[in-house]
Amino acid sequence: MIDKELLEILACPACKGDVELKTEKIVCKNCGKKYPVKDGIPIMLIEEAES
Ligand SMILES: [Zn+2]
Repeated sequence: MIDKELLEILACPACKGDVELKTEKIVCKNCGKKYPVKDGIPIMLIEEAES
């Protein structure tokens, strides 16, 4: 589980937008890219994102 403080410091690497946690994915509120979470660690890489 990802804690809220960590989520608050994360930003979308593509657009620097705010992100939110949605069932096992980090979703950018701005551009909608989805980043995977592996072993509880968000993978904030544009190459790993699904749009
Ligand atoms: Zn974004």
